[in-house]
Amino acid sequence: MTDATKGPGFATLAVHAGAAPDPSTGARVTPIYQTTSFVFNDAEHAAALFGLQAFGNIYTRIMNPTQAVLEQRVAALEGGTAALAVASGHAAQFLVFHTLLEPGDEFVAGRQLYGGSINQFNHSFKKFNWNVIWADSTDPASFEKAITPKTKALFVESIANPGGIIIDLPAIGAIAKKHNIPLIVDNTLATPYLVKPKDHGADIIVHSATKFLGGHGNSIGGLIVDSGTYDWLKAGDRYPTLTAPNASYNGMVLAETFGNFAFAIAARVMGLRDLGPAISPFNAFLINTGIETLPLRMRQHNANTQAAAEYLAKHPKVAWVNYAGLPENKFHALQKKISPNGAGAVFTFGLKGGYEAGVKFVGALELFSHLANIGDVRSLVIHPASTTHSQLTPEQRAAAGAGDDVVRLSVGIEDEADIIADIEKALAAIG
Ligand SMILES: *Cc1c(COP(=O)(O)O)cnc(C)c1O
Repeated sequence: MTDATKGPGFATLAVHAGAAPDPSTGARVTPIYQTTSFVFNDAEHAAALFGLQAFGNIYTRIMNPTQAVLEQRVAALEGGTAALAVASGHAAQFLVFHTLLEPGDEFVAGRQLYGGSINQFNHSFKKFNWNVIWADSTDPASFEKAITPKTKALFVESIANPGGIIIDLPAIGAIAKKHNIPLIVDNTLATPYLVKPKDHGADIIVHSATKFLGGHGNSIGGLIVDSGTYDWLKAGDRYPTLTAPNASYNGMVLAETFGNFAFAIAARVMGLRDLGPAISPFNAFLINTGIETLPLRMRQHNANTQAAAEYLAKHPKVAWVNYAGLPENKFHALQKKISPNGAGAVFTFGLKGGYEAGVKFVGALELFSHLANIGDVRSLVIHPASTTHSQLTPEQRAAAGAGDDVVRLSVGIEDEADIIADIEKALAAIG
């Protein structure tokens, strides 16, 4: 039961946080404010908005009422002070690092990541001279070893894509705290329904809202959440975007003016303003609607996935199943501690027939769609080696849990019996 002294519970926040009936029309659901720009009251009001002396809507690249509901809703679910909605999960990561790093800086990332993030860090970020140092997400000590005086952030996923790996966030959070380095956690696979990274030391949380937050496979979007926990001023001159007098805002020091939500402001008024990856009001509307059923969907995702993993683990054609919800899994104890409501909907398994069997299995499924996405109400399947992780070397693929024999499932919210029947039929088709 919800403890009323702590404020509304998770399901109530998922439906209501950030939203109120529209003040001008009475519309109960937050409308799609499909407008580029907003009229100023007068010249003084305009000057205050542009100078950050007043909060308000100017232009939809920077802020919009439909996006604002999404931001407040996800900030509430994550327990953060503020959030910023952007065009995609990758845009969220880009803006986070743009806010934290200067050319020549380093960050330490656990190598068990979404394949697209590995590419972004290894290649595109190098053009800005932002240098990733890889650590092993399953070995917190490897993060400490990788830290140098140039390290400006640590980055991990809470539940790692695609391997079904549960990360020891408290251990990595303690290392971040000890070295006074902000910890960034990609909470896409877990969602705040399963894991609250802030409780384990995350200073900044990022999401691909494209996945479980939106939940319906219909919109690309991303979120940045400011936990409000990192003291930027205490870090001296290490984060100049936050602590140096800002030339485009009359010498304002963002960390002084905005305190425990300065990071979210800086990512908006420097990163989003100048780099421009804004989310459309329509996508923000669809993701707002999706979040309303997040707890219901996650419960069904978890139950179906547990059943599918148990079925596969007993099947003679299956070599191994990597799902933290299985008692024999090496991450099971960590899952009970960090993600007690379930192990999520995404996991990998290997077929004894290797690459060939994987291709046949994927081709024989009917209910499961073969595509490059996760976190949809529909059940999805992919062979990472030939798709999402194909740009990586075989060594990088193996390290990321995406070797040649690996099949990844994102189990949907259909009937459990139909999901199992589809898997059973496709396994029979391997021959
Ligand atoms: C999909 C994904 C991303 C990238 O998000 P987009 O919305 O596709 O840009 C980042 N991290 C994880 C864990 C993801 O699954």
